Amino acid sequence: MRGWLIPPPKESTKSSEDFVNEREAKVRGLIKNGYLKSPRIESALLKVPREIFIPDPYRDYAYQEIPLPLPGERATISCPHSYPLFYEPLGLDKGHRFLEIGSGSGYGAAIAREVVGREGLVVSVEIDPVTFEFAKRNIERAGYDDILVVNGDGGLGYPDMSPYDRIAITAACREIPPPLIDQLKTWGRLITPIHKGPNQKLVLIEKEVDGIESYTICDVLYVSLRGEYGV
Ligand code: SAH
Repeated sequence: MRGWLIPPPKESTKSSEDFVNEREAKVRGLIKNGYLKSPRIESALLKVPREIFIPDPYRDYAYQEIPLPLPGERATISCPHSYPLFYEPLGLDKGHRFLEIGSGSGYGAAIAREVVGREGLVVSVEIDPVTFEFAKRNIERAGYDDILVVNGDGGLGYPDMSPYDRIAITAACREIPPPLIDQLKTWGRLITPIHKGPNQKLVLIEKEVDGIESYTICDVLYVSLRGEYGV
């Protein structure tokens, strides 16, 4: 059977100091095993308290390499290494206009906002209304007032703020939804898990003047995309 084992829910016993220590240790580990390279992504991971994006009963597991359940249907916060896994090949950087499909906890959007800075833009689209409310509340609680969180089908993108320099789809699709390619700038990059038979591959594409260059990175395991271009 393929899947993740979810640890048992329990009351949180860790202090904010415990979480700071765990966060710093996690970042050191991600550098050591090669996932994390760029200083801006490192600073973002050190700054954003992942534990406040996680429902109380799972908070103590915040820095473990497991996805944890979120309110809504089939939503999970991805494991900690997933964020550099996506954002390093994407080359996410200061000033980028970034679109995330699948807000989940809101953590990925917060990390992206730290990387792109005030001069950039973060738009995050979530299809599930319950998960959307959860993400929005977490993002506000974390102190961000300039991340646009939208309740809708991210397969359709968010044309109002397009074009984007970078797009991350954090759910697995059969093929990249065409509206997302349309909303990507030329020389822009998009990263997404794609179903390939019984497996999923993390795929990076770059939009060129006369076509698309595609690179396969590794095997991954994500919840499937819903909506018009859903699986
Ligand atoms: N990026 C998130 C993890 C997302 S899990 C984080 O950092 O926590 C995948 C999310 O994609 C789920 O919340 C799911 O509801 C959402 N999703 C699935 N299909 C979608 C679609 N078509 N549009 C927007 N969100 C979608």
